[in-house]
Amino acid sequence: METKALFDPMNYCNSLTTYSRRKTIPVKVGDVFIGGNHPIVVQSMTTVDTMDTLGSVEQCIRMIESGCQLIRLTAPSIKEAENLQNIKDELRKRGYNTPLVADIHFTPNAAEVAARIVEKVRINPGNYADKKKFEVIEYTDESYQEELDRIRERFLPLVNICKQNGTAMRIGTNHGSLSDRIMSRYGDTPLGMVESALEFLRICEDENYFDIVISMKSSNTQVMVQAYRLLVQKLDEGGFKPYPLHLGVTEAGDGEDGRIKSAVGIGTLLEDGLGDTVRVSLTEDPELEAPVGRELVDRYEHRAGHHQIKEIQHYPISPFEYNKRQTLEIYNFGGTNVPRVITDISSISQISEREMKNLGHHYLPELDKWKMNDQGCDYVFSGSNPIPFMLPNGMKEIQHFPIWLKSEDKINKFPALSAKEFKEEKHFHTGLNFLVLNDQEVEGIIPYLEERKDVVIILKSENAHNMPALRRAFVELIEGNNQIPVVVQVNYPFADPDKIMLYAATDVGGLLVDGLGEGIMIALNHDEQYERVNILQQVKLHNSVSFGVLQAARTRMSKTEYISCPSCGRTLFDLQETTAMIRKRTDHLKGIKIGIMGCIVNGPGEMADADFGYVGSGKGKITLYKGKEVIKKSVPSERAVDELIEIIRKDGRWIEPEV
Ligand code: SF4
Repeated sequence: METKALFDPMNYCNSLTTYSRRKTIPVKVGDVFIGGNHPIVVQSMTTVDTMDTLGSVEQCIRMIESGCQLIRLTAPSIKEAENLQNIKDELRKRGYNTPLVADIHFTPNAAEVAARIVEKVRINPGNYADKKKFEVIEYTDESYQEELDRIRERFLPLVNICKQNGTAMRIGTNHGSLSDRIMSRYGDTPLGMVESALEFLRICEDENYFDIVISMKSSNTQVMVQAYRLLVQKLDEGGFKPYPLHLGVTEAGDGEDGRIKSAVGIGTLLEDGLGDTVRVSLTEDPELEAPVGRELVDRYEHRAGHHQIKEIQHYPISPFEYNKRQTLEIYNFGGTNVPRVITDISSISQISEREMKNLGHHYLPELDKWKMNDQGCDYVFSGSNPIPFMLPNGMKEIQHFPIWLKSEDKINKFPALSAKEFKEEKHFHTGLNFLVLNDQEVEGIIPYLEERKDVVIILKSENAHNMPALRRAFVELIEGNNQIPVVVQVNYPFADPDKIMLYAATDVGGLLVDGLGEGIMIALNHDEQYERVNILQQVKLHNSVSFGVLQAARTRMSKTEYISCPSCGRTLFDLQETTAMIRKRTDHLKGIKIGIMGCIVNGPGEMADADFGYVGSGKGKITLYKGKEVIKKSVPSERAVDELIEIIRKDGRWIEPEV
């Protein structure tokens, strides 16, 4: 990284070191306010067909009861838009006043109907009044302006209806579904996403319509984070009002992967005080989304008043593009190596070979052999509990320094030293020593690190504003021209798995998306109240969350990535069942991205950078893609997974699963 350019953090947030929410204008959506001084709103979207009034109402109620404060329903055509009235009436009759949002793509007519019924409409500037052709068209300045004039003409009626009815609007840009016009000028970039929203925003402001919320979603967490930051900068630069932000990662997937990916994107922005409403989008029942959103948002309720972090005068990290911090290659850390996973087992005495499966290393006693899965950790931190057998699969052990000093094997085991031990010690491992520092110790240790080519830092912080405190320490290293690799250590002294995955994804993922960090370690808390079996469960969780965070931040691909849409009223097949089926056949294809999209209207655009796509194109019919190219149309769904595998095979990327 070590770029000469310095970036003014005020370009995108109030402060990089003190928690402070960006001040936005409040936007009224029914009885709920988004932005201003109002708490961050959690919202979600139904999956039942909008024409199914009772099904939609019942799903809305389940969502409201799980904490959803705003509900979005899809309105692809006029008939669904009209049916929103029935859904709204029934909800109000049953005593639920939660505001409703109509999700519009392509059809201004549906938007104009919906805007008279519900409290908010969401338009996608990439396809509002625009048929996307995925064509590269050369626009002259004149023809570009003609396009903008055409959009203005189609969009103005909606703006006027919203003004007359007090209806709010979200201008929701999605990476991967930008208009051909934007693509031709800006490409599929964060800048293109921002410009796409600004085209529509200018029209709204010209009409004195300001009840607007903006989003910049992507399934690529780096692109998503950069686009929101750039949006804030461009709003300020362009003299626009500070509109509230709706945060979301599209097509995040399900289970642990979906939660981690959402947290890497949403959490990273929340840390810097960006975001007024969040929607976590999972390929699961929608009532499961709001609790995850709430968990992410509640973390900031008591964040103000955290321990002070030294201000950053000159910020050497670009918030708008990914640049990896330049580091030395020390052993297998840093340089061009992927970030490493260190799994902490220091609370477990005399771990057995069989128990190593929790770290992704499986012992097969019948064969007396070891097997490693895609999530076999690289290093194990045993602290003061040395491992009593030879480690398999190239895995290495890190021990507390006094234990290492007494160890017979001082070659294959590595010491972890405190700052004090490091400053006083004369005897080190010849190749690799781990220096455990908290964020406050970094500045003082830099002079001791000059010329050292045998050190990797394990960096942690006790600050409640954890990620920014760690980021501050990285700035210290960059300013001190220090290129020692850094493993980020986080510690959550509780056993709740959801919190661990969301918090680790935020704290470590927030650094990784900015190119900071050469490894991850989630500390294991020594707690007498837990049985050994529970501690091992915790180790297993930490290990898989670590790999999940690296993957979600796009820094180390260790598993197949599924970019599946959350489903909505347009979905043409059972997404959860289909995703599970595709996953079962393909989850050994490390590093491949497969898009699983419920409909052909938005699916191809929203698959973003998937390598292969499985898209519903009619009842029981699937269209299969390689990248953005259609390979097979209208494949019967019973044959579609086999055909998908055939396409992967022909592309030379298929490998047979191990039996
Ligand atoms: S891609 Fe999925 S979520 Fe998006 S509109 Fe189609 S079915 Fe709905």
